[in-house]
Amino acid sequence: MFEFSDGATLAGSAGGVNKKGCTVPLQVLPRFLYDIFKAIRYDSRVPMSTIVITVPHAKCDPKSPREDHSCDFAAPDGAQLLNAHLKKRGKLPTLLIGNINRTYLDLNRPAAANTAFHRTIAAKLAPGGVYVDMHSFPTEGYWDQVWGQNELVLCAYFGINDIATADIAAKLRRGGIKCRVESPETLPLVKDYYLIQKFGPLARIPLMVELNESVTPERRSYAMDVLAHYLCG
Ligand SMILES: [Zn+2]
Repeated sequence: MFEFSDGATLAGSAGGVNKKGCTVPLQVLPRFLYDIFKAIRYDSRVPMSTIVITVPHAKCDPKSPREDHSCDFAAPDGAQLLNAHLKKRGKLPTLLIGNINRTYLDLNRPAAANTAFHRTIAAKLAPGGVYVDMHSFPTEGYWDQVWGQNELVLCAYFGINDIATADIAAKLRRGGIKCRVESPETLPLVKDYYLIQKFGPLARIPLMVELNESVTPERRSYAMDVLAHYLCG
């Protein structure tokens, strides 16, 4: 695992990462050349992956009270569990953990389009692959009224991932998992979720997952096992 300077930690890369791919002292270059060299370096040293998992809201703000939900508390754990269950089945996913707090720059909004986080997804996600964008939600306040009754929520975008989302929701429910499907029609807020709209069309299976933070680790692991089974099918 290594950290990018502006927004991402890359873990579990299929085929490994060559850190020696560039000998140019990037810091001395003008900004525009720096960006170009960085983009090339990412493209050349990061092999494509058939499964990419992102956690854009992983970075918490230690000064922010928990009720402000400055980060997705359960999403990193859920992504690691999904990663582990996929590896158990012989897959080598790319797990991309955001390291910018959403208060400063939300990696799930267009303002983050030029970060290393976004460039790395673009470089890693093989056409026709699987893309899973992982989030989590609290069960206090509004969320308790709707989402809180479910162990996880899947967000569908008609024309992007509605079929895959319906399929996986059915699979999860057959496995005894309480699962809700949200869409821009049922929840307009969903329209603001940028990553799935940007990268979903590139994938054969694009999913956006919201995990209930009150679910026990055992149930979360079980749900991610069922999801991994579907993604490997
Ligand atoms: Zn989130």
